[in-house]
Amino acid sequence: MKAIRVHEFGDAQALRYEDVADPQPGAGEALIAVEAAGVNFIDIYHRLGWYPLKTPFIVGLEAAGVVEAVGEGVTEVNVGDRVAFGMTNNAYAEKVAVPVRHLVPVPAGISAQQAAAVMIQGLTAHYLSCDTFPLQPGHTALIHAAAGGTGALLVQIAKKRGARVIGTVSTAEKEALAREAGADEVIRYTEVDFETAVKELTKGQGVEVVYDSVGKDTFDKSLNCLKLRGYLVLFGQASGQVEPFDPQILNRKGSLFLTRPSLGAYVATREELLGRAHDIFTWMNAGELTVRIDKTFPLSEAAEAHRYMEARKTQGKVLLIP
Ligand code: NDP
Repeated sequence: MKAIRVHEFGDAQALRYEDVADPQPGAGEALIAVEAAGVNFIDIYHRLGWYPLKTPFIVGLEAAGVVEAVGEGVTEVNVGDRVAFGMTNNAYAEKVAVPVRHLVPVPAGISAQQAAAVMIQGLTAHYLSCDTFPLQPGHTALIHAAAGGTGALLVQIAKKRGARVIGTVSTAEKEALAREAGADEVIRYTEVDFETAVKELTKGQGVEVVYDSVGKDTFDKSLNCLKLRGYLVLFGQASGQVEPFDPQILNRKGSLFLTRPSLGAYVATREELLGRAHDIFTWMNAGELTVRIDKTFPLSEAAEAHRYMEARKTQGKVLLIP
């Protein structure tokens, strides 16, 4: 089969489209014929070696498709079932063998592309807004990169939970998308100082929570946007990794909280995984959550997809189609 592999960490050229042996489903695994694989920022961190994996490795953590075969002892899924997964390696491929405990059934009404689009970004938006800092009416949330894949979903769920949302984006086009997703206020942080703008919009009070996936470029000012005892949820580093941090800063700035969550810890049990996926799919089918598929690339053009994301162009989900 064809797959995208990294032999040496590096820029997008490190993604090689090549022939590899077909995977065989082991005990407790199912072989999935991939219909769409999701592109996520974490794939770039893997490619760069920021989260090192043993080389050579097949890139990608998220896909949807159809069960083609099952390994020994598998009773949970059958050949022909439509399934999706996130946070499981080897997704940029025509086929992938996945432990069945990571598989989520895809309900009627949800296409393979839509399912592949939400297994990481959708479930992340869910845990951030429902559990890491459970938003409720009366809260104001600052959401960076509010028109991005995760950002636009987070804005919608935050609004659904009754919070006021201030989003940041880099361009006018993205501002329109963030507003379409439901953001009450949008700051173009490439043109104005977002800390000053947030203080103006909150009458000097600050916000209860900042969801910061930009990292290096926004971290310090994100802390300054918080109310007393506010929460900085640092969940990514699209602009680069945050420097080592002195916890006394949290004391000085008003007894703040800082957390660095990741999806794996919030889908730690099968029940949690299925529960979050169920909510997301139900909201999508009810028209309460809109997933914007920004662009699809053939699997062979994974490098182009990475360049597109790194160039800050994403306006929703990017998918690879084998
Ligand atoms: P996005 O589609 O949101 O793309 C990233 C966005 O970040 C860009 O569109 C851009 O928006 C913004 N950005 C700001 N500075 C830069 C920069 N220097 N280079 C590139 N982009 C920049 O990607 P994802 O939705 O896949 O991921 C968003 C973030 O969420 C990532 O940091 C990712 O690691 C994190 N994440 C974390 C998870 C977790 O569980 N912890 C799970 C899933 C994602 P703009 O142009 O508007 O500034």
